Amino acid sequence: MRVAVRILPDPTNESLHGYLARVAGYNGYKNLSWLLGAVAVPRSFVTRPCDLSGLVQMLGGVTDSATLAGMAFWPSVTSLGYLRFGSTVVSPYNLSLQRSKYCPVCCANDRVAPRIWALIGYVACPHHSCLLRDECPRCGDAVPLLHPYRLQCRCSASLSDTPSDPASSAAIALSRFLDGLALGNPPTKGAAPVQDLETALRLIRFFGVAHPGQSWRSGYISKPLVREMAGRVEQAASVLLDWPHGLLAFIDSQRRRPTEGISLTAEFGPFLSRLREALNDPRFEEIIETVRRHISGPTHRVLTKPSSFFHTTAEQTGIVSAKTAGKVLGLTTATIARLIASGALRGESRRMGGRRAHFVESNSVENFIHSRARVLTVAEVARDLGISTFQVERLRQHRLVASVTGIGNSLQEHRYLPEAVTSFVEQLRACASNGLADSVSLSEVARMRSVALVEIIRQILAGLIPAYYDPSITGPMLDSILVCRIDLSKMRIGSSGCPRMSVRSAAKALGMAARMVPLLVNAGCLTASSSGKALARHGVSLRSVEEFPKLYATSRRLAVRHRTSSRVVMSKLTAARVTPVLRSDPRRGISAVWRQADVERVSAMDLFSPANAPKAKSRGGLG
Ligand SMILES: [Zn+2]
Ligand SMILES: [Zn+2]
Repeated sequence: MRVAVRILPDPTNESLHGYLARVAGYNGYKNLSWLLGAVAVPRSFVTRPCDLSGLVQMLGGVTDSATLAGMAFWPSVTSLGYLRFGSTVVSPYNLSLQRSKYCPVCCANDRVAPRIWALIGYVACPHHSCLLRDECPRCGDAVPLLHPYRLQCRCSASLSDTPSDPASSAAIALSRFLDGLALGNPPTKGAAPVQDLETALRLIRFFGVAHPGQSWRSGYISKPLVREMAGRVEQAASVLLDWPHGLLAFIDSQRRRPTEGISLTAEFGPFLSRLREALNDPRFEEIIETVRRHISGPTHRVLTKPSSFFHTTAEQTGIVSAKTAGKVLGLTTATIARLIASGALRGESRRMGGRRAHFVESNSVENFIHSRARVLTVAEVARDLGISTFQVERLRQHRLVASVTGIGNSLQEHRYLPEAVTSFVEQLRACASNGLADSVSLSEVARMRSVALVEIIRQILAGLIPAYYDPSITGPMLDSILVCRIDLSKMRIGSSGCPRMSVRSAAKALGMAARMVPLLVNAGCLTASSSGKALARHGVSLRSVEEFPKLYATSRRLAVRHRTSSRVVMSKLTAARVTPVLRSDPRRGISAVWRQADVERVSAMDLFSPANAPKAKSRGGLG
């Protein structure tokens, strides 16, 4: 048999079942069952291949089997698991085949129902700017997939009379976007980088599930009716058509910003793992990469493990872990944590289970390295000022030079910002005038043992001692600041008019123990304002201390000079009948002191040469 009204199919636009519904409709059949039964085509023909020769015969040869088979959603031979969809393929998940979708205005105008209406993300007719329908406008019954074209509902309501709801511009734009992809056109500018229809549909399904809750999975795999799908399409359209801002805004909306925990799950909930699962395909790599860059970018700065799917390098995140920062800076994680807490490093510490995790902004690490390279150690400050490290420490203790801690490796180590050192010198220069009399620079003062540098500086800053500044002097900074010798001598001058120094400083200058100084005074090697236990605090004559090394020598010093032992020195000098000025007393830790002139006389006789050295007979120290 043949059907009375024979119409031509539209192979570029129409599906096989849509064409058969149209044939049934034009021929006045109430349903397709009779027609399919007559040509021995099973109802599964929509997605399963079958013999269409009977159908071709019934249609009176207006078309052929190959054309009809090309219109069907049959499995693709080249892409396993996909169904043919015109010139492309789609996954069965992306086809909505439980109902027939239609545009009432298209039906009223006798337009062919295009196969693209069967796609799950396609909810609006771009020609008429209205939502598609999948139900009867009067009774709300579903319109079956194989409903003959233009046939009224079982409630006798016409499906083409009532205009549908207007569609949103986003839904219409998305329909146009899908139309373009179905025809093989690449996406327009500003749209997501999708290469085919299938990719776009999966993105619509994924991003359409609003704020995924517990029912996310069922929401993702479900095939909702047009009315529900319209809302999802709206949401997905912003991601697909406002690229990449729509996607970035979507990610932003998923961020939780927890106070605890640092994992991606803590930050984004299950969103990212779902994204990874749903878009696990090389075709989404560009989209995944955008997500990856965004979560590690300046907006979120989420730190990921190197093993994480969403991991990006530190240059992209701008954040490093405390461990990495510690490695770079040579500090422990605990120190890094303390530096974060003190604000020396910009970063964040967060509880993560039983421990705390710390992150540092990588540019903050760089700044830290830079400032650490810039700060001066005590030795550098001493060199710059032209004084000893000990005096720098004294200046710091007297708060004359400001220091910083925590920048060096150890917490206790004080370092100095260059500006702190210069401001100290500036302060001194501000107190100084230009007159130059018989003056001495502060770095020279620093080397004097008769006066304390700190004391002089305090007096200068207090305006008690005039200071002079000679900008022509280069070298260490304190070289150019001078004080008058007369003012210095006023500071520490004994009754004899000679500068004097304390027992301690005298001992230090001589490189001896302090207990030696009163003994030397008593022996007449040093002069002092008073002697013995009553030795005045600043009673030792500076000149006698200065002259001591020229006139006297200890056994130890002689031993060092002649590369022998103190005992040999002692025995030889005793043998040569040289009397020490101060006898040794090993029990009290006192070594013998000899007159240089006596020693030189013996040395001239070459007594110290090992060849004719007499063997030391006595093992004990000689008195
Ligand atoms: Zn329409
Ligand atoms: Zn109805």
